[in-house]
Amino acid sequence: MTLLTPQRQLLADAALRDRARAVVPGGVYGHMSVLKQMPPSYPQFYKRGEGARVWDVDGNEYIDFMCAFGPMIAGYANSTVDAAARDQQLLGDALAGPTPHFVELAELLVDTVAHAEWAMFAKNGTDATSIAVVTARAATGKTKLLKARKSYHGANAWFTPNPAGVTAADRANIIEFDYNDVASVEAAVAEAGDDVAAIIVTPFRHDGLTDQIDATQEFAAGVRAIATRIGAALILDEVRTGFRLDAAGAWEKYGVRPDLTAFSKGIANGYALAAVVGVDAFKEAAASIYVTGSFWMGGVSMAAAVATIGILRDGGVDAMFSAGDQFRTGLATQATAHGFTLHQTGPVTMPFIRFDSDESLEQVFAFTDAAIRRGVLLHPWHNMFLSAAHTVEDVASALERTDEAFAETRELFPL
Ligand code: PMP
Repeated sequence: MTLLTPQRQLLADAALRDRARAVVPGGVYGHMSVLKQMPPSYPQFYKRGEGARVWDVDGNEYIDFMCAFGPMIAGYANSTVDAAARDQQLLGDALAGPTPHFVELAELLVDTVAHAEWAMFAKNGTDATSIAVVTARAATGKTKLLKARKSYHGANAWFTPNPAGVTAADRANIIEFDYNDVASVEAAVAEAGDDVAAIIVTPFRHDGLTDQIDATQEFAAGVRAIATRIGAALILDEVRTGFRLDAAGAWEKYGVRPDLTAFSKGIANGYALAAVVGVDAFKEAAASIYVTGSFWMGGVSMAAAVATIGILRDGGVDAMFSAGDQFRTGLATQATAHGFTLHQTGPVTMPFIRFDSDESLEQVFAFTDAAIRRGVLLHPWHNMFLSAAHTVEDVASALERTDEAFAETRELFPL
């Protein structure tokens, strides 16, 4: 393994950034762009990944705690998943119709996710949340959609956080409430009159920049009871959390089951796939809506998903929690030893870090920059991700380097 030094170079990366800027609007866009608000050492372009590691285009190796922002869940280049995908690839991906994996995967999701009685497939998380919303409207004949303030549910016109190119009419049917505040959900319901199609909510609050906060039992049970009372759908957006908390459903721990759940990111270990699952009461409505996409029936990602979910059910989720525990405990010990108060929030499989009294993010930027230069890919203001491929050795090796990164940060910010 090549240990990185603080002097490592990003020459090929810089050249690709220049070329991208010339021919791609904004260079690299979306959540993977490092142009805005990222430490200077963060690479933009990668050559390959294996297990819990990635290599940038300059050949630098990183233990990766971003997991492609979620899609990687069983390890980069996982041999079981890739063999399943390759077998189907040799037969064809987009064919004249779906492959048997379509049915097999729907059966597997119905068997795995507690409330699921049917499943539909698409490609991205935004597809899945959109299908869920349109299904809810078709089922209820109602219009309004209740969502938590700052919660992200996709890049379409009604959910995007960025106002560019979006009209007021696109958002006219959204009413917001505060996460974990049942009274504010009731206020949103009152504002909507008798016209709520759905309440959409993430299993815990993961808005970025602020501490992650788990849903309270009262909130989970509260939104469930309200949706049932007013005849609206409860949509659980598990696009980010899917299979990283509980394969049976994130709110199973509370005994709370949604009507519809949206999945994407981790379900096929990096192959493009999304799924919506639901209860029988919404099956007819789901069959009535018009949703489709040129690539949605492709067999490769469905074969990959069947293999991925198999790995996750077969100890993968437990492995992820154990790696996450090891990482969180290690970081906490190191932070204390270096005199920092580090806030680590959210489930250990989706960690978020924040330094105390660091509103400007200077300290967390310095720390993540120092870690990245030592070959540990961390994020300064977005939740990170563990995978079933993070071994005890990977985490221990990452922790050796974060200890140095804390020391370097302390030199920059003396006590
Ligand atoms: N919902 C949530 C909770 C998400 O985190 C995301 C993606 N970050 C989406 C929906 C949209 O998914 P995608 O980017 O795949 O369209």
